[in-house]
Amino acid sequence: MSRPGSPGAQPGPERKSSEPAPEDPTAVRDAFPTPGGPEQALAELQAGNRRFVTGTPRHPNQDAGHRAAVADGQHPFAVIVGCSDSRLAAEIIFDRGLGDLFVVRTAGHTVGPEVLGSVEYAVTVLRTPLVVVLGHDSCGAVQAARTADATGTSPAGHLGAVVDAVVPSLRRAAAEGVDDIDRIVDIHIAQTVEAMLDRSAVLAAEVAAGRCAVVGMSYRLAAGEARAVTAVSAGEARGGAEVANGSGAVDGAQPAVSAALA
Ligand SMILES: [Zn+2]
Repeated sequence: MSRPGSPGAQPGPERKSSEPAPEDPTAVRDAFPTPGGPEQALAELQAGNRRFVTGTPRHPNQDAGHRAAVADGQHPFAVIVGCSDSRLAAEIIFDRGLGDLFVVRTAGHTVGPEVLGSVEYAVTVLRTPLVVVLGHDSCGAVQAARTADATGTSPAGHLGAVVDAVVPSLRRAAAEGVDDIDRIVDIHIAQTVEAMLDRSAVLAAEVAAGRCAVVGMSYRLAAGEARAVTAVSAGEARGGAEVANGSGAVDGAQPAVSAALA
């Protein structure tokens, strides 16, 4: 708001002459190419997360030149269906910038028609090759659902819809004998991946055709690390969707995607 200097700070003559052409978007693109396929996209996300975790972010694609370069069209390489938690900002934790990520966020990454429609838009119109469900430890939505389920109460207003959407994950965790809240979160992530593929024939078809993959990632608030806990790609998506068990590794994921997850 209050930047040093006058608000109308005009580009001085010397600044104009020293300006290296209209920025150098190509250099930025060379350093951070737009990934072409699911594995490459995932690898790029993981690389960005490593930079974030180690405190060496490069903040790519956030400069004025890139802003201008992407104004005419977007080609995001990943859809992030994440929890709305304020500590889970996708472009920050994956160290990316404008035009890179197509982000849909709801409390507890609960998925309704608008969310599915947004994902379908990204994978069919924008041709985005990777969909990531991003959950995290200490998720308030999961905790609220747990409380509601335990007490037989339901929050007032539309918050009840969020809680209701998480309850199937609680049931699944109970059936698997899981009581640890963070493992329940991982199961909820896997459950969300599964629900999206079950409810969106469009997404399932894109995955089956090998044009995109769906990966579940679990984020740790303190460490900043996003860990892959489940993955679905062409191999698993035949005739619907089978999801690797969300509590732990990515067993059953297509080898190529698994390799990228390793
Ligand atoms: Zn959350």
